[in-house]
Amino acid sequence: MSQVFQNYIDGQWVESKCKQTFPNVNPADTRETVGLFQASGPEDIQSACEAAAKAQPAWAAKPAPLRGEFLFKAAELLESRLQQLGEEMTREEGKTLPEAKGEVKRAINIFRYFGGEGARAFSYQIPSERENVFCYTLRKPLGVVALITPWNFPSAIPAWKIAPALVAGNTVVIKPASLAPLSAYRLIEALHHAGLPAGVLNYVTGSGGTVGNALVEHAAVRAISFTGSCAVGNQLYQKVAARKIRIQMEMGGKNPTIVLKDADLDYAADILVNGAFFSTGQKCTACSRAIIEKAIYESLVEKLLEKTRKLKVGNGLESGVQMGPAVDANQLETDLKYIEIAKKEGAKLLCGGKRLTGGTYEHGYFVEPTIFDEVTPQMRIAQEEVFGPVLALMRAENFDEAMKLANGIPFGLSASIVSRDLTRVHQFVQGIEAGLITVNLPTAGVEYQLPFGGTKESSFGMREQGPLALDFYTETRTVYLKYTQ
Ligand code: NAP
Repeated sequence: MSQVFQNYIDGQWVESKCKQTFPNVNPADTRETVGLFQASGPEDIQSACEAAAKAQPAWAAKPAPLRGEFLFKAAELLESRLQQLGEEMTREEGKTLPEAKGEVKRAINIFRYFGGEGARAFSYQIPSERENVFCYTLRKPLGVVALITPWNFPSAIPAWKIAPALVAGNTVVIKPASLAPLSAYRLIEALHHAGLPAGVLNYVTGSGGTVGNALVEHAAVRAISFTGSCAVGNQLYQKVAARKIRIQMEMGGKNPTIVLKDADLDYAADILVNGAFFSTGQKCTACSRAIIEKAIYESLVEKLLEKTRKLKVGNGLESGVQMGPAVDANQLETDLKYIEIAKKEGAKLLCGGKRLTGGTYEHGYFVEPTIFDEVTPQMRIAQEEVFGPVLALMRAENFDEAMKLANGIPFGLSASIVSRDLTRVHQFVQGIEAGLITVNLPTAGVEYQLPFGGTKESSFGMREQGPLALDFYTETRTVYLKYTQ
C-alpha cells in the first residue's frame, strides 16, 4: 500500500474535499508508486487562500528576525534527514542521488540565507533637501502570495520561493508540480514541525489546469511566483494582467556554451558533458547548444564523444550512475520526437538517439545521451527547448559568428564561454543575451546566494534568490518625517 500524503491547510494535514488522489511514480522503475497525493479542486484552494488571508496580519506583525527563526529551525530538521530526502527525490524525479542530496542541501542553505534576511531586509535612508526632515523607505509584505513550481528542482525551487515570501511577512499557498510533489511536502513538514503559525503556509496538490488555475484566479492572491514552461507562464501573465497583481515568471531556455580555439579541450569537453547531460538535461540552465570555433571543432568533438559514450545511465539510486531517466512518459516522448525532427531536418546523429530498454531499463523512461552535428541556426533543435539529454553542435568561423549564433534564439536564460582570452571573455560577458553568465564553467550550477533569472522569453519580472529576492515579495513605502514643528 502506498503512503497517502495530504494537503496542508490552516496548520492541519487534510484530505482534498473530493477525497481523490493521484500517484507519484518513480520514473526509473514505474512499478514503484512513491506516494499518493491529493487530487485537489478549487474548493481546497478556497480554504487555503482563506486561511492564508486570515493569518497574514498577525504574521506580518511578528518582527522579521523572529519570522526568520522558523526557517533556521526547519533547516535543522531538513539537515537531519538529508539522506532520506535525497533518496525520495531520486525516486520521484529520477536525478542521481548525489544531485538530489546536493539539491536538498541547497534548499537548506536557502532557508538559512533567508532566515538571516529577517535580521537584514535592508531599506534606504536617504538625505532630505529640507531641514530637520528624515527620509527613509520601508518594506511591506504584499499579502497572500501564490507559488507554482515545476518538477525538475522539486525542493530548491519551492524553497527559494517560500523562504523569501515568508520572511518578508507574506502568507503562502503553494502548488507543487504533480510529477514531484513529495520534495516540497518535506519542506512544508519541516516548517510545520518548526512551529510555524497556522495558515501562514498552505500546500495544495493537484493538476495545474484545476488547482493552479483556481489559485491564480483567487481574489486574495496579491502576487504569483511561477517557474515552469513558457506556454503556462504566458497564460498566467494574460490572466493576471487585468488585476494588476505582481507576477514573476522563470521559464525555458536554449542555453549555449561557446568554446574558443584557445580552450583546453579536455576541460571544455567536461564542461559540455556536465552542462548537457547531468540531471538528464532537465535543468532550465542545461546546455543544449555547443558553439565551437572551427579551428578546434574536430578535435573537441572527438573528446566530447569519447566522454559522452562513457556516461553511465541508470537508476539514480545506484552508485556510479551519472544520468537518470526522463521524468515521465511525456518527457521521454518529447526527447524522442525532437531526435526524429533533428534527423529529418538534416542534422547528423553522432551518438545516442534511442530509448534504452531491457534489463534494468525495462521499467523506466531512459534515453541515451544524444549529440547532433551539422546543426544549422534555423533547425528546431537549435531554436526550441527539448528539456532532455540532447546536445546540438554548431560550428562558428570565429568569435563574432559564435556570438551571433548564441544570441540568435528567443530565449536568454544562461550562457557560458570556455576561453583564456581575456578580451573575448569580456566581450562575451558584455554582449551575450542571458541572465546567468558563466566563464570556464558549465551553463548550469548556480549558487543559492546570488540573484537568479533570465532575459528575453526566458523570464519576466524581478529576480529570484540572493539579495534581490525580497524586492519581489515586498512593496516599498517612502517616509518623510519632520522631527520639529
Ligand atoms: P509546466 O508544465 O509549465 O508546469 C509548471 C507548474 O505549473 C506545475 O506546477 C504545473 O502543474 C503548473 N501548471 C500547469 N498548467 C497550469 C495552469 N493552467 N495554471 C496554473 N498552473 C499550471 O512546467 P514543467 O514541465 O513542470 O517544468 C519544465 C519547464 O520549467 C521547462 O520549460 C523548464 O525550462 C522550466 N524551468 C525553468 C526554470 C527557471 O528558473 N527559468 C527552472 C526550472 C524549470 P502540474 O504539474 O500539475 O501540471
